[in-house]
Amino acid sequence: MRRALIAGNWKLHGLQENQSWIPALETAVTTPPSNDVAVCVPATLITTMAQTAPDWLSVGGQDCSVHEKGAHTGEISARMLADAGCSYVIVGHSERRADHGETDAVVKAKAERALEAGLTPIICLGESLGERDAGNAEDVCRDQLLASIPEAPAAKVVIAYEPIWAIGTGRTATAQQAQDMHEILRQAWPGDDHDALRLLYGGSVKPANAAELLAQRDIDGALVGGASLDAESFASIIASAK
Ligand code: PEP
Repeated sequence: MRRALIAGNWKLHGLQENQSWIPALETAVTTPPSNDVAVCVPATLITTMAQTAPDWLSVGGQDCSVHEKGAHTGEISARMLADAGCSYVIVGHSERRADHGETDAVVKAKAERALEAGLTPIICLGESLGERDAGNAEDVCRDQLLASIPEAPAAKVVIAYEPIWAIGTGRTATAQQAQDMHEILRQAWPGDDHDALRLLYGGSVKPANAAELLAQRDIDGALVGGASLDAESFASIIASAK
């Protein structure tokens, strides 16, 4: 039985504009959720978040280094994230693939470092609008999956399917489009343990569309960007999880 995971991604937004986020979330979530919940925050906020989050809320990083340590100025290792209080780390978000030229091989190496540090990597993948319009979405996502995943049991990783055209655009994949891709990705998982694989959908998930997306058979949760900055919206999405 897979436990749903609702993970927020604050991107480059800080506690400055979210001082009251944890108290507001605790007010909105009256009983501890039966599914898993995490919030992936900028690195400078991890310690504060980990110290103040309620027990049911895990903290995650948004990226980690391919290196464990050494002369790599500006990098943060997976082990440092774990030491600071993280349980999860996002790797291969399309914004990092685009802004920093991260390849599937880099994403795979980051996921390996995350596992070695005891973190659960949330490995992101998804097609562009051009790739979808050309009818290549399935091949693109299957190829990204196979090239980005470490050798590990399915239960040790999380995959987030995030069509690039749906991220931060207000345009969401239909529940059917998302379910179809999740089913393809589950079947493409190389082990016979694909039923244990948690597959999140990401791309403009909001309170208004979360329930329908999360009701799909192969959608095991959501990676939530913009709507996770608002505690009430995030609480509403948490409540929508099966
Ligand atoms: C994301 O940050 O991964 C994301 C899906 O963002 P949004 O929910 O804002 O589209």
